Amino acid sequence: MLILVLNSGSSSVKYRLFDMTEDKCLAWGIVDRIGARGSVLTQERHDGHKVKLAGEIIDHQQAIEYILAILLSPNHGVVKDRSLIGAVGHRVVHGGEKFTGSTLITPEVMAQLHECIELAPLHNPANIKGIQACHSLMPNLPQVAVFDTAFHHKMPDYAYIYGLPYVLYKKYGVRRYGFHGTSHRYVADRAALMLNRPLNEIKLITCHLGNGCSMAAVDKGVSVDTTMGFTPTEGLLMGTRTGDLDPAALLHIISREEIGVGEANSLINKHSGLLGVSGASNDMREIESEVAANNPRALLALNIFCYRVKKYIGAYAAAMNGLDGVVFTGGIGENSVIVRQKSFEGLGFLGLEFDAELNAVKSKEERFIDRGSKARAMVIPTNEELVIARDTAELVGA
Ligand code: ADP
Repeated sequence: MLILVLNSGSSSVKYRLFDMTEDKCLAWGIVDRIGARGSVLTQERHDGHKVKLAGEIIDHQQAIEYILAILLSPNHGVVKDRSLIGAVGHRVVHGGEKFTGSTLITPEVMAQLHECIELAPLHNPANIKGIQACHSLMPNLPQVAVFDTAFHHKMPDYAYIYGLPYVLYKKYGVRRYGFHGTSHRYVADRAALMLNRPLNEIKLITCHLGNGCSMAAVDKGVSVDTTMGFTPTEGLLMGTRTGDLDPAALLHIISREEIGVGEANSLINKHSGLLGVSGASNDMREIESEVAANNPRALLALNIFCYRVKKYIGAYAAAMNGLDGVVFTGGIGENSVIVRQKSFEGLGFLGLEFDAELNAVKSKEERFIDRGSKARAMVIPTNEELVIARDTAELVGA
């Protein structure tokens, strides 16, 4: 069976088409700048054939029509007939407390997804648009929602309840939910295979470091704590997000700068993080170049970034009463030699001894970057789309 995986954002739709008989990705691409001038669709096929088309794409439905057309196109496509696509799997950012696992989309589920919009007003509406567009275009095709939050739903209450009046949790659902769950779940599964041990016997820390960054303490296969919170803003320093911040500091800034909620939201999510501290860039590659050129604020941003990763490794080893392995993934985790090095430095007391030479190897493969320390250090490229495709295939009974 072929499964189409969609990640619908506010102005883009990313997609991948999988052949589930061999878990193979046949084609992947993105429609960008939806609703703006100069929309583009770019696609790459498994055989390396690439195509880029420009045109006007006004909404998500049109974007998905273009995606289907290119996947079926005799010149650029990979599918002969639309009926070969058996289901669509959607990434949905927030499942609240309602969704504790992936689910087949029904009218009741759609109603519940709308209720979750309040929790993720920036992300869930776009995810819902993608689902509605697919329903209009292919009304009989089963669709599945796979949630970023679901993997974290078994956290203990003392890890997810904030120190606010409890009534606010009950009234508004204000608690830690965590995100990137599909990625944490995928790399934890792969790490168990690499360690040749059952997942339900080991203690892992998974570090997803991309534009957004989060870590999870995965104890016997269960996420027992994670750095992102009620929103993706909490925890690690990110490209443009603050990560951990004293809430009273934000109130002070709001009052001194006389800004409103919208501006404060932009400040902590779009103008902070690596970009805010360095003043140079939100992109780790550019931060690394600036550090090489002796830019002190870029060095400060890099140091804060790595210090927080290291601090949470210690915290999560304590949360789990031990540690068998740490996994790095995401664009930064998979590629940045210096971030891994600085984040691991001095952690020998936890039995975590990374190897500088192995760490410096550039590779797209999963690999150990230690020479057999008590707690193993691993780099595992993430594959969230494959998890979505697998969950979808399972739920539609393929
Ligand atoms: P997203 O969270 O949007 O999926 P990615 O996982 O692609 O993002 O991660 C993007 C980040 O990865 C950027 O900060 C980018 O600079 C960083 N990155 C990608 N390649 C490298 C590299 N070779 N060295 C250092 N950082 C890298």
